[in-house]
Amino acid sequence: MEAVKGRRLWWQQFTRPELVEYAKKVSDIALLPLGSLEQHGEHLPTGEDSYHAIGIAERVAERTKVMLLPCPWYGAHPYQHYYYAGTIPLRFETYHNMLKDIVRGASWAGFNKFILFNCHGQEWAISPAVHELALEGYFVVAPTLWEITKEVIAKVMETGFSHADESETSLGLYLIPELVDMSKAHDEHPEPLMDEKWYASPGTLVRKHVPWYSGTFSKPEYKHLKHGVVGSPSKATADKGKALVDAAVDWLVEFIEELRRRYPPGVKPEVK
Ligand SMILES: [Zn+2]
Repeated sequence: MEAVKGRRLWWQQFTRPELVEYAKKVSDIALLPLGSLEQHGEHLPTGEDSYHAIGIAERVAERTKVMLLPCPWYGAHPYQHYYYAGTIPLRFETYHNMLKDIVRGASWAGFNKFILFNCHGQEWAISPAVHELALEGYFVVAPTLWEITKEVIAKVMETGFSHADESETSLGLYLIPELVDMSKAHDEHPEPLMDEKWYASPGTLVRKHVPWYSGTFSKPEYKHLKHGVVGSPSKATADKGKALVDAAVDWLVEFIEELRRRYPPGVKPEVK
């Protein structure tokens, strides 16, 4: 991940003339992996979400030659994540401004299409930036990991996709096994403030009424989670993690290939 082995994948490994040439001849699609710095229980590292985004992004870049923008590591957070040790949230306006500045800056080298690949519970915070960038003429799409892999989650996971749970721990076991300590994994199922029949958790196949981020359904986690887990990491396996990673990579590759067929390098989709 950190060393340059074989082909370079990340923006910061190229020179200015190389980037300009790349956007002209190879790909003017840039992918920005988005995660968070957030406590993930006692068995997963705080960078867990960002490691998911980076690991999947690298696999996509190997297959599509899409340019990878460096992962910011920090993310935006819903209210219930705040004040927990290990979590460092960016304020919403800081986050919006960061996303918009990254896209604007990357466009100066000739990159015209942007994929903001989200692996943290901040899809609600990314959408406003997408629309503000659209008003400036940028083509921006922000897929979220558990939305594009819903069918695989329903098939492979016993308990869906939540936080430091079966799904996220499986991703950790597959992508960064050296940073996962299963002897410290505890299942935990916090009581919500309203019955779960009223809202849809991340990764659920069918929406019920209100998406989880459009209401204050959760108690503050720093007070009410004993282990920092929402779900059942005990059910995690590396094979389940691989199934999720493969599904996300396939979705992104298919999307990027179609985008490139319709709009080859240099051609801008008419957003404005
Ligand atoms: Zn996570």
